[in-house]
Amino acid sequence: MSFQQKILIVEDEGKLAQLLKEYLENSSFGAEIISNGSEVENWLTDNHCDLIILDLMLPGKDGVDICKDVRRSSDVPIIMATAKVEEIDRLIGLELGADDYICKPYSPREVVARVKAVLRRVGRVPTETNSKIVLNEKKLEVTYKDSKRELTKVEFNLFSKMHNHPGNIFSRDHLMDSIYDSQHVVNDRTIDSHIKKLRKKLVEIGLESEVIQSVYGAGYRFDMMD
Ligand code: CA
Repeated sequence: MSFQQKILIVEDEGKLAQLLKEYLENSSFGAEIISNGSEVENWLTDNHCDLIILDLMLPGKDGVDICKDVRRSSDVPIIMATAKVEEIDRLIGLELGADDYICKPYSPREVVARVKAVLRRVGRVPTETNSKIVLNEKKLEVTYKDSKRELTKVEFNLFSKMHNHPGNIFSRDHLMDSIYDSQHVVNDRTIDSHIKKLRKKLVEIGLESEVIQSVYGAGYRFDMMD
């Protein structure tokens, strides 16, 4: 018998929250709604949940502060919802530790799919996922099972950055800052073209090109899909 996973919906738009709750329940999840941001912390001390869908703009306390507070004591998966796609990049830059971001208006069906994807992802033991891939910084080499491939310095920096934080989304800006020592004049396309070459090399040693996923409007992330 499988136990029911509980999702906490922190959302002040009543109708939307209710609709989401119904969709989640139809997918065999348990769901609770909190509409005021200041109530989340108390609720979490008395209750358990397996994932939080967290709206950004809330009465009481906003999503950014809630996310920070929750992360101090818990690594429960968090999906942040925002009304502006431009916001996502800023939120990622804040490194709040949310597991995914979703833009409003969203379809409840899409949210349920994201919930399942995040739960699948965090349900895997990260060390197991990563133990198959070995990075050698001195040689700028990546080894997967018995195959190895040399990378350029930039490709290596890009890959190790994402590989060390599986599942985390990195914006192009963030990646650029982390791979270049000085202030090169580079644009989004530069990152995309490095990613393209990197993927090709990873495929050569037997990895799926999708271990580096493009997240629409947000950036890239490393993830092993089994
Ligand atoms: Ca709101």
